[in-house]
Amino acid sequence: MTSAGVGHPGRIVVVGSLNADLTIYCERLPQPGETVQGNGFAVNPGGKSANQAVAAARLGGHVSLVGAVGEDANGNMLEASVAGAGVDVSHVRNSSEPTGVAVIAVDARGENNIIISAGANGTLSPADVAGAADVLDGAAVVSLCLEVAMPTVLAAAQAGHDAGATVLLNLSPYAHIPAELAELTDVLLVNAHEAALFLGPGASVPGADAHASQWDTVRERFAGRGIRQVLVTLGAHGSVVLDSEAAPGAQVTFVAPTRVAAVDTTGAGDAFTGAVAVRLAAGDALADAAAFASVAAALATTRKGTQAAYPEAADVERRLG
Ligand code: ADP
Repeated sequence: MTSAGVGHPGRIVVVGSLNADLTIYCERLPQPGETVQGNGFAVNPGGKSANQAVAAARLGGHVSLVGAVGEDANGNMLEASVAGAGVDVSHVRNSSEPTGVAVIAVDARGENNIIISAGANGTLSPADVAGAADVLDGAAVVSLCLEVAMPTVLAAAQAGHDAGATVLLNLSPYAHIPAELAELTDVLLVNAHEAALFLGPGASVPGADAHASQWDTVRERFAGRGIRQVLVTLGAHGSVVLDSEAAPGAQVTFVAPTRVAAVDTTGAGDAFTGAVAVRLAAGDALADAAAFASVAAALATTRKGTQAAYPEAADVERRLG
């Protein structure tokens, strides 16, 4: 990892998606062919990469976002939200495609259905990654997710690797990744569901209360697939750090959940990823970054909304004591 940035030591470059979240609230979700009456509607800034960039900037990171939006009201709203958090948007370009949207239905129990239309995100290409060389070349961390095309993710991972940055890959939404991308990934961030899918048939992912030896087996399986540092998030149960680079005996670390009164867990994973990026860019060890991120993500669940709910560094430090 380098700490030299383009005038900004520890620059984080997030390459990926921006989506307008169009959320409709209803008593119960419709069955196929059925229409139900909704009881509220909201348009909010979202997209995993935009969320991660905002989370990292709020926490004091120097962040550039590489992405694409349409020339429409949603695009303007998204750019304003990201830039308002202090993210450099000079590499968020306009596309003739409409801005990406996530159409979300949420029922009275908080259960949801989500359909994403990639729109402009689908146009983000390896050429955009090449065009962002000015920020990528000095990056300390390059943060990626799978809401844009695989060749784009691969190009960004390669550029980050070539620049000596830590390549952080959030395997979400889950997709099979080529071995080449696994090799370029320094830190993989997955929830339990994504971890099980990645490891494939026969691999069980234990719970937070499992013995360290069970998690050590999981660590070995990831290492066997070329991934030596993994963060597995377990929702309200915290997270587990699997670090094959650490000394024997320190390769599995449980990060206890931060106890909060959660009101909205949407985007908690993105808050966690953004916070990890900030602490890795500052030079933290993986387990320390996860401990900080656990507090940041928990605080994000105590307020409604996604980007608007993300905490500032001072909020996290107060909670850490
Ligand atoms: P995803 O949203 O990607 O599925 P998780 O649900 O695992 O991710 O949440 C990511 C992280 O957010 C967790 O590891 C934890 O640190 C934090 N978190 C999520 N839900 C809660 C909660 N109810 N209370 C405290 N922390 C939470």
